[in-house]
Formats: sequence, C-alpha cells, structure tokens
Amino acid sequence: MMNKSEQLFAQALKVLPGGVSRNTIFRKPHPFYAEQGEGCYVTDIEGVTRIDFANNMASLIHGHAYPAIVEAVSAQLHKGSCFTMATESEVQYAQLLCDRVPSFDKIRFVNSGTEAVMAMLKASRAYTGKAKIAKVEGAYHGAYDYAEVSQTANPSNWGDVDKPTSIPVAVGTPEKALEDVVVIPFNDTERAINILNQHKDDIACILVDLLPHRVGLIPASNDFLNALHQWTRDNQSLLVFDEVITFRTNYSGAQQNYDVEPDLTAMGKIIGGGFPAGALAGRDEVMKVLDPTEAKVLLPHSGTFSANPVTMTAGYTALKMFDQAAIEKLNSLADYAKEEITKAIADVGIGACVTGAGSMFRVHLKPEPPRNYREAYVDKKESALITKLLDHLFDNGIIMINTCSATLSTAMTTKEIDCLVAALKDGFEM
Ligand code: PMP
Repeated sequence: MMNKSEQLFAQALKVLPGGVSRNTIFRKPHPFYAEQGEGCYVTDIEGVTRIDFANNMASLIHGHAYPAIVEAVSAQLHKGSCFTMATESEVQYAQLLCDRVPSFDKIRFVNSGTEAVMAMLKASRAYTGKAKIAKVEGAYHGAYDYAEVSQTANPSNWGDVDKPTSIPVAVGTPEKALEDVVVIPFNDTERAINILNQHKDDIACILVDLLPHRVGLIPASNDFLNALHQWTRDNQSLLVFDEVITFRTNYSGAQQNYDVEPDLTAMGKIIGGGFPAGALAGRDEVMKVLDPTEAKVLLPHSGTFSANPVTMTAGYTALKMFDQAAIEKLNSLADYAKEEITKAIADVGIGACVTGAGSMFRVHLKPEPPRNYREAYVDKKESALITKLLDHLFDNGIIMINTCSATLSTAMTTKEIDCLVAALKDGFEM
C-alpha cells in the first residue's frame, strides 16, 4: 500500500518534470508534502509535525501563518489582489524600507530575488554604459544568465585561482554571456583586484553577497569590501549588494555592519512576508534609469505582479514587526545555537564546525571553517555524511536547508534550539 505522499508523487511524476516544481525541495525517494504550518512547526500530509529551520529557504521571518500577516492579507484579499493601478500599500512599504536603510533613496518592487538581481545588473549597465558584471566565485544569485555563472560541484572546472573560470550552470548559456562575467575569489583582496584590473574599462558593477551561503556562509571581510568599493570609485563602476538572504541579519540588512554603502541593493525572501517578492533599491542618481518621467528612460522596466497589494501588505506587516528588538532577540538565539552546536561538536569529538551570522548558521562536516568557495566544497564523502545527518534530523522532527543550514524565525525559542542541538549531537555520534 502506498502512503498519501507516494501516491501524490506518482501522480506528480506524470505532470511535473521529476515530479517537482522546484529542485531544491526534491528528496529521495520523493519530496515531503506540507499540509499546514503554524509558527515554527510544519505538519506534512502524513500527519507528522516537525520544527522548521528552513523557513521556505530563509523567507519566513515570523514562521508560518503569522496571525498579524494572516489578518492584514485576508483584509486585502477581500478588496482585490492586483490591479492595473498603483496602490497606497506600495507607497507605504517603500517609505518603511527607505526609512530603514541609509543607502536607499528610492526602491522598485519586483517578484523574486532572481528578478531583483537581474534588474539590478541591468540598471548598473544602463547607468554606466558598460557590459561586464564581476561576481564572487561560487556565490548564488538566482537564475539570470549572468548572475548564475561560476557555480560547479566539479573542482576540475574551477580553473586557476588567479583567474577562476566563468562556468555556466545551464547547458546552452550563450558564450557571450560567459565572456561578460568576471569571476573573483571571495575575501582575497589582492587576487580580486588583479582580476578586476584586467577588465578596467568594462565592468558595470561588482556584485557581492555579504554572507554568501554557497561560499560557506562566512562574512565578507571589511578589507575585501573596502577594496572593492574603492575600485568601483576609481573605475566608474558600481558596487551592488545581493541582500536577498542577508537582509534579515540586521535592521538595515547586512550592509549595516560595514563602512561602505552600496550603490544598489537587491532584496527578496523576507520582504514578501511569505509571498513572492523582490526589490531593487539604492542611490537616487542610479535609480533614475527606471524613471518613466525622464526624457529618455534608460531601463524601461515593468512586471505584471510587481508591488501587488497582497505582497506589499504582507511584507509591510512582517517588517514592521521585525524591529530592532525582534532582530536582537533572534540574532542572540542564533548565537546561542552556534555556541551549543560548537559544544556538541567538541563533546562528540567529530571534525565539524559551524559558520554563519545574524539569524543563520551552517554546519560543515569539516574541522575548520572554510574561507572561500573552494574550501567550502563538499566532496562525495562529506555529501553522503550530510545527507545521512539531514535524514536523521528529519526523522527526529527537524527540517533543515539541504546544505545543513538553518535560518531562524521569531516564532522560535531556546526550546526548539535545544531539540536541534540534541538531534545534531545524536547524529554526530552515528
Ligand atoms: N540571491 C540569493 C543570495 C539567494 O539566496 C537567492 C535564492 N535562494 C536568490 C538570489 C534568488 O531568489 P529567488 O529564489 O527568489 O529568485
């Protein structure tokens, strides 16, 4: 007899490629199907409840079905979900975000992180009149051709560390797109500047995630960032941040922790309050490329569902409640988790470590924290051990992101962290 999930997956295989709509949620032998969520708990269609440390890939800052969002969005749904008109909700939310972040003079809403990064790169090109994009080796920035270059699980494709290869993710990516992406190593200032200097006149922007997940969830160093910023000032280029994930780490995003301000910032995930969202924000002078009142619009840009009032209402409510006090509380909870996991690692005596900042952390089955993408590389042996650990956690009521990363929600307390640490400790002992 097949259970409900097996039956659903058998049906899904007939109508969805591989039975899924997003590869990230695929698990062997089949994905798990959610029935409902409340706070930091999710119940699947088999009736099993687990603590959710994945939070839809870091996008739910208050957990599931947060009452204030449910109430505000329900009221909006009764009034309509989208119009061929602007709404008050987008103005209100734009004001909140611009008040929150010093580098935001203007903001434009879109529908996903991918779209936000894409619009940001195109805005950089429109503003500078240059074509090339510089990005950090291995960093994930969504699915735009130029943004997704340079992530490969195969070390033989990496190329020389002094000139990392521009490797496509998707077969069929145009060669020309690859030529227009300059790859720099993370936190390696000297090498990065040398590489950038070889493309001095052509770089529209340097794209940086301040805490890149795939690079090991380690923060960008001040030295690295200051050097990139100075390089962009010296070479008529822009410094642009991908804060799609990191916006949750501080009141004004992770950029609050650094001395330099970006020209533009892309956001997504938590700013939608649980609904699809993205945004591009930054300096007035640069954001002007989108301005339809200009004599010549350098970047004509629209989106059918952009700034729809459902997302705007949900996002506004989520961020209004994610104030300084809530952020400090959540980040302290993550610090507590990292300390307890580090103790568990020492108690068991396993070669593992934990990285991360703000309300996110990642467990590596490596004795030392990685410093860049090449060191964060998970080989076949480590990958098998991580899968075993994640399965063990799942069987013990814990959902993590598939790199063994966790993102917390304000619905969590030390109780849930203690459950995670106990299950991890058991898992380390296996
Ligand atoms: N940038 C970063 C840093 C991300 O983590 C992601 C998504 N994981 C994206 C961009 C793309 O966002 P989306 O999935 O909403 O398109």
